[in-house]
Amino acid sequence: MRELVATTPGVPATDGDGVRMTRIIGSPQLNLLDPFLLLDAFESDRPEDYIGGFPSHPHRGFETVTYLLAGRMRHRDNAGNEGVIEPGGVQWMTAGRGIVHSEMPEQEDGLLMGFQLWVNLPARAKMTEPGYQEYPPADVPLEVRPDGTEVRVIAGSTSEGTRGIIRNDYVQPTYLDVKLPAGSEFEQPLEFEATAFVYNVEGALGIGGTDLGPRMLGILGPGELVKISSTEGARFLLVAARPLNEPVARGGPFVMNTQPEILQAFDDYRNNRF
Ligand code: MN
Repeated sequence: MRELVATTPGVPATDGDGVRMTRIIGSPQLNLLDPFLLLDAFESDRPEDYIGGFPSHPHRGFETVTYLLAGRMRHRDNAGNEGVIEPGGVQWMTAGRGIVHSEMPEQEDGLLMGFQLWVNLPARAKMTEPGYQEYPPADVPLEVRPDGTEVRVIAGSTSEGTRGIIRNDYVQPTYLDVKLPAGSEFEQPLEFEATAFVYNVEGALGIGGTDLGPRMLGILGPGELVKISSTEGARFLLVAARPLNEPVARGGPFVMNTQPEILQAFDDYRNNRF
């Protein structure tokens, strides 16, 4: 049985063109949760906190996963892809050898709330061709259980057999958005060694006898099963993936295995080789 082994609320951060957010993974407190490189939570109804968005910028060597709970974001890239991400919809972008894109709010006011997760690629796939898996809310499987629990299955499989929409053979991810009614319990099998975390979006959660409050990330220890309960009702993300156990070299929007590979990425970007 998996237990909560550490918790963190993250730290306030600013990225893109002045977007205010909470950096939960990729911060000084929690630099890396292999294979997760970064987790940002953004939540604001003040346009000045998000209106600048994330103008054109590159990535290489990993995948970005954008999942929105409220608001809309428009993305464009240098391969000609363009689309709008909506609440409950997901964009899983494999930057691979390189992509240049922008991510901008598709709204001038109102609440914008969601997450961006960076998932590392194994060394053998860091220079793969870029790719997108992007799905509107209606394409993300929704499992409704007899007790009223709702599970949006972005990646992985639930204990009831619902399969997520995202395909990823690099780290075999699980990414679930779960709404728990008051007084219910949720069980999810996970690979014993998989890295796993719970992010409490709202409500109060109990995991193995430990409480996890709202807007808190809880890191799970190893085990084949996690049990998450809520006396008052809650919504949370449960995310897991196989660790890569490879060296990590970071350079801003690039994540490779060695420092020379980072320098090569900057050189390639400057010389329009993306
Ligand atoms: Mn980006």
